Amino acid sequence: MLARLLACVGVESVVLERRSRAHVERRLRAGVLEQGTADLLRTAGVGERMDREGLVHHGLYLQFDGERHRIPLSELTGGCAITVYGQHEVVKDLIAARLSTGGAIHFEVDDVRPLGLNETQPRVRYRLAGEERELRCDFVAGCDGFHGACRGAIPASALAVYERTYPFAWLGVLAEAPPSLDELIYAHHERGFALHSMRSPSLTRLYVQCAPEDPLEAWPDARVWEELHARLETRDGWTLHEGPVVEKSITTMRSFVVEPMRHERLFLAGDAAHVVPPTGAKGMNLAMADVRVLAEALTAWYQSGRADLLDAYSATCLRRVWRAEHFSWWMTSMLHRAPGDDAFQQRLQLSQLRYVCSSTAAATSLAENYVGLPYV
Ligand SMILES: Cc1cc2nc3c(=O)[nH]c(=O)nc-3n(C[C@H](O)[C@H](O)[C@H](O)COP(=O)(O)OP(=O)(O)OC[C@H]3O[C@@H](n4cnc5c(N)ncnc54)[C@H](O)[C@@H]3O)c2cc1C
Repeated sequence: MLARLLACVGVESVVLERRSRAHVERRLRAGVLEQGTADLLRTAGVGERMDREGLVHHGLYLQFDGERHRIPLSELTGGCAITVYGQHEVVKDLIAARLSTGGAIHFEVDDVRPLGLNETQPRVRYRLAGEERELRCDFVAGCDGFHGACRGAIPASALAVYERTYPFAWLGVLAEAPPSLDELIYAHHERGFALHSMRSPSLTRLYVQCAPEDPLEAWPDARVWEELHARLETRDGWTLHEGPVVEKSITTMRSFVVEPMRHERLFLAGDAAHVVPPTGAKGMNLAMADVRVLAEALTAWYQSGRADLLDAYSATCLRRVWRAEHFSWWMTSMLHRAPGDDAFQQRLQLSQLRYVCSSTAAATSLAENYVGLPYV
């Protein structure tokens, strides 16, 4: 996305990707686009398929005590909405746009090493098809995820790390079944959290809370469906559609932030700098917000020699990052059952859920965070 935004203003870049094109185009991850993310894709000229195939949602459901309550997102946020469109579909659209405009993108690169970050022309060494290569550039953008090489290229003493892990994980399945409801359902249940989501009119994405150490073999399809039925069904006879499970994976939960997001001429963006638990659907949206700020700052630098936006990059991004960190932690804490949680904790969660579903002020707070706060 950064490469796309820069290409739109004539700034050249080279994208280095460790995996193959086929791999990144089918890697299932996030699927909820904030209003601002969808608008950014449109502005960058890569929103056409999203507008055709994405599912626009104007509300979501919170479920507890066997009852479902709708949060009318659009009504509470002056018309903003979320778009359900898989992250891998966004990736496909961006790669297609990159290739069609002749932009440089190398897949299956190995051993990426940013070097000379304090020099005016830092270098990036890497291996492509067994051959050692070196790029000289003005800036390095570390958009290489939590396990990438860029954060590690910064001396540990230059970074402050803030972190929290959670004693639960999500088992996610993709099922060939039409969604059982037209909006997302976040369910609080004594057996643990569950989420009903979707990827298309014929594909349902479902999650159940599980233990982080659970192996996938502990979750045969029959057990997954049993838990989903128990956690998602309501007292009014609503049932869940089943279908063949075509993908199954376990995602651990973590909150993580490094500060600052810049070191010399290296700018970290997205998961390379921060991670949220998926409950608030913020991970990909935050990565998009970062590169939007970075693209603007680089554009100002190239077009008018201004360094102030680059200097402000980390502080500008971190304000949004910490809001999303809080929101994601809050949604996670309200909806999951941690080992050792007692009846007192459960009653606090239920009280919070009842408040969010009965107070316009509380519902608006959830809604404006969920659809995404305006960019500053
Ligand atoms: C399994 C999984 C499930 C998720 N589910 C959800 C969800 O349901 N909802 C949600 O909101 N968020 C979810 N997330 C989080 C969300 O997908 C991320 O926040 C988002 O992908 C961040 O984008 P990014 O571009 O910063 O990092 P990434 O999408 O991770 O992109 C980084 C890219 O860099 C490449 N790379 C890594 N290391 C190197 C290297 N050394 N050299 C070159 N390239 C490298 C990677 O292959 C990858 O393509 C999930 C994440 C994972 C891992």
